[in-house]
Amino acid sequence: MQMARKETTDTIGTPSKMVLFCPDCDFESGMIGGDWDVSSTGYATSYHCPQCQHSFSVSNRR
Ligand SMILES: [Zn+2]
Repeated sequence: MQMARKETTDTIGTPSKMVLFCPDCDFESGMIGGDWDVSSTGYATSYHCPQCQHSFSVSNRR
């Protein structure tokens, strides 16, 4: 298991681009503009994996 963070430079140029990994199948896509089926509830954002249909939520903290 490698924990290295993947850096993609061919995006909009924002260094704060975050990549989200599906905890179930390791599917990887950007938090914003990715392939996730996203639904936000205000306190948390739910991501639905298009690959294994697993859904999980990330709390909106800043
Ligand atoms: Zn998945």
